[in-house]
Amino acid sequence: MSADTAGSSYHLSYYHFTPDGKKNVPKVYLQAGLHADEQPGTLILHYLLEMLAKDDKLGRLDAEFFVFPMVNPIGMAQIHNHHHSGRYDFSTGINFNRNWPELASCIMDEDNEIASDFTQDINSNKNKVISALTKWISNQKPITALEKLRLEIIKIAMHCDVVLDLHCDIHALNHIYIAPQLMPEYQDLADWMGSHATLTAENSGGGSFDEVWSRLWIDIQRLCPDKPIPKPVLSATLEYRGLVDVDELLNRKDAENLRGFFISRGFINTKTKTIPPPSPQALPFNATQIIKSHVSGLVCYSVQLGQMVTEGELVATILLLDGPDAYRSRVPIYAGTRGLVFSMMLQKYTWKGETIAKIAGLKALPERTGVLLEA
Ligand SMILES: [Zn+2]
Repeated sequence: MSADTAGSSYHLSYYHFTPDGKKNVPKVYLQAGLHADEQPGTLILHYLLEMLAKDDKLGRLDAEFFVFPMVNPIGMAQIHNHHHSGRYDFSTGINFNRNWPELASCIMDEDNEIASDFTQDINSNKNKVISALTKWISNQKPITALEKLRLEIIKIAMHCDVVLDLHCDIHALNHIYIAPQLMPEYQDLADWMGSHATLTAENSGGGSFDEVWSRLWIDIQRLCPDKPIPKPVLSATLEYRGLVDVDELLNRKDAENLRGFFISRGFINTKTKTIPPPSPQALPFNATQIIKSHVSGLVCYSVQLGQMVTEGELVATILLLDGPDAYRSRVPIYAGTRGLVFSMMLQKYTWKGETIAKIAGLKALPERTGVLLEA
């Protein structure tokens, strides 16, 4: 894929496993590194690839697997003054995991008759949606490398029954973002992953990659309530701890657990002795408090990851670095809800508007409307 500037190009590679002699098997799509500076997923997929290759050799695969261990070569090239920055596209400022297209709208814009073409045959309706998507893709005229990259990914993911996007937070516990319509059906995914907080939002307002795939079918069903439409595919963002958690033992175990999930769902035909311990039930994402700093200073935490806090409990103090009380006074930061502290900062210098911590609470918070995700 040619880059946007003279003399450069990008290379996107992936692994594709197809079970021999088996037709109409489910398709599973896995990617890591969409936010290119979030690396645990790449090591997890490295281990999973080894396992899938072995399962393939032994004829155990009952699903096709598409595996992109490093899905964002544009972000991997973004080095500035010895610092890798992989969340936002350098050239446009676009967050690589935001503003993905709303495919139901894309199809309807392409062919506003499609809804009236649906019949009472669910498979025929599914095929019509896929055909319309294929047509929409063929009519796109991508110019930039980022636009081309997104289309290449969509072309493959659109055919898949499971779409999992591996990310990480800054300093965090395992957690999941998923559509509420998929829970509790996929509680086993949370159990296998060891998710400490499974956070549901149908539309977090940010256009994140995972929402594309479940929302395609949710939106179409909503537009055509009297027609049988396939249920939403399993798509989710899996947040594997924090930035520094690229770890041989942990990530190998993460890969084994993903494989365990695939075995339990019948995508790999073998047995596992492991029974994952139950993870907490899903919670609405609008009940997660994202605590933001209203001053600039140094964050000194009073809590730890995994700690349950009550509303009003001290989470941190921020040492002021300017003004008449600089270096002497601290501003207290209190929890605005009761819940689990699952994400914190690594570097402790903060400024106005920056996220300090996330607390997974039970009750929807009045301020959590509109765009729920961070920028
Ligand atoms: Zn991410």
